[in-house]
This record gives sequence, structure tokens and C-alpha cells, in this order.
Amino acid sequence: MSIARIATTFAVALMLAGVAHADTLPSDDTIPASNGDIAVHAIHHAALTLTHGGLVILVDPAPPQGGTPPADPTVEYKALPPPKIILLTHDHADHFNVPILEAVSGGATIVAPREVFDKMPADLKAKTKVVANGATIEVADTSIQAVAMYNTTPARQQFHPKGGGNGYIVTLGGKRIYIAGDTEETPEMDALKNIDAAFLPMNLPYTMDVAAAAKAVKDFKPKIVYPYHYSGSDTVKFKALVGAAADVRLLDWYPGS
Ligand SMILES: [Zn+2]
Repeated sequence: MSIARIATTFAVALMLAGVAHADTLPSDDTIPASNGDIAVHAIHHAALTLTHGGLVILVDPAPPQGGTPPADPTVEYKALPPPKIILLTHDHADHFNVPILEAVSGGATIVAPREVFDKMPADLKAKTKVVANGATIEVADTSIQAVAMYNTTPARQQFHPKGGGNGYIVTLGGKRIYIAGDTEETPEMDALKNIDAAFLPMNLPYTMDVAAAAKAVKDFKPKIVYPYHYSGSDTVKFKALVGAAADVRLLDWYPGS
């Protein structure tokens, strides 16, 4: 093989390697922040990415819910730029998936509650920081605060008992972004101050209905609200119930349905 041929083969191999994942994340919305906007990407259901200044945060990577499951649930996540931080809220299958984490965690730091850590294989445990409700840690120069997430309605407490999972507040570019996890309105949520954007779940029986979610918004007053984890719920009604209390932004969290 000639030198030129080797060089060409090498260049083609590099090009092929380059298409393994996109250089930039798809962005479905942006939140103004210092040092550049925060890009929000709704993957599906409760899975999302936040990107700011080259930092990629991946939240609850799991297979899509409903419909025919993909043959390989890792494929869509491997197509995204590698995350530096992975936030896991709790141990349910629509939030926590070992094969996906093993495929995409690379050099990332995973942040998770104890219940998730206990179900991880050793390779994932080695890159995971366990945080309890209320604790704050710093990862990649980013402040991450764990907020309790749980059901308050007695008949639903079996789904998410208090102390099991974490919601998170991530501070990016001076903005406080709250990812609530699977929760109803709680005293911990009501105590939150200065939330610039909140991802709030609304589906029964696992979290709350749209009226309860709208009441929560009026109580803790986030500036922007993204309904997520809402399969089957009427998010247009939610937006109407919130009215002028917050900037409700509806993204497509159930593509293909
Ligand atoms: Zn869930």
C-alpha cells in the first residue's frame, strides 16, 4: 500500500470515527445564563441533557417508555456528546439502566442516592458519588444540591418513599435549575428559593396530577417550568392552570407517540 493510500485510509477512518457522536447536542430550548445560554434537550420521559459552556449533564438515561423497546437502548445515548456529569434520581427502570450507564459514563462522574448505588455493578460504583437528601456537592466546578423527592399521598407512598430518591438543583451560569425527579409537592420543594427553571413530573399514580403540579408552581414560584415525566397528562391544561405564575415551556418528551 502506497503512503498516499495509507494516508487516505487513515483520513477515512478518522472521518468514520467522527460520526460516532455529534459534536453538538440537539437543543430543544435555551435558558439565558452568564457565559452563554444553557441548552436543554428533552430526550424522552425523564431523560434529558443540560449543556453549558461545553459541560454536558445527562439526567436519568433510560430506554424510551411505551411503544416497542429499541433493540439496543444504548444507541441513542452513544450518539450524544459524552457527559461530564450524570445525575440519577432513583432506582426505577424509567430512570436507571445499567447497560446505558456502562455505555456512556466513560470519564463522567455519576451522582446518585444510596438506593441506586447499592444496585450498581462495581465499575459504575467506582465513578459514583452518593448524596443524601439535602446534601450539596461540587462536581466539575458545578454545585449540585440533592432535594428530597417522594410521594405524600398515602396510597402512593409505596412508589417513592421519602428518603429513597433525590431531585437535584444544578447551578449553571448563575442559574439554579431544579430537576424534581418523581415527586409530589413536598415541604422541601416549597422551601426552595430562586429557582430559575424547574423540571416537574405530572402523571398518576406515580407523581401528581396537573392541578397539583400547578399548585406546586404557585407555591415555590420557579420562573420557568418544563413539564416532564407526564405520559398521558394534559400539559396544555397544566399551562393554563399555571397562567402567569410561571413561564411554562412545553417540549416533546414522547417523540413518536
Ligand atoms: Zn418515573
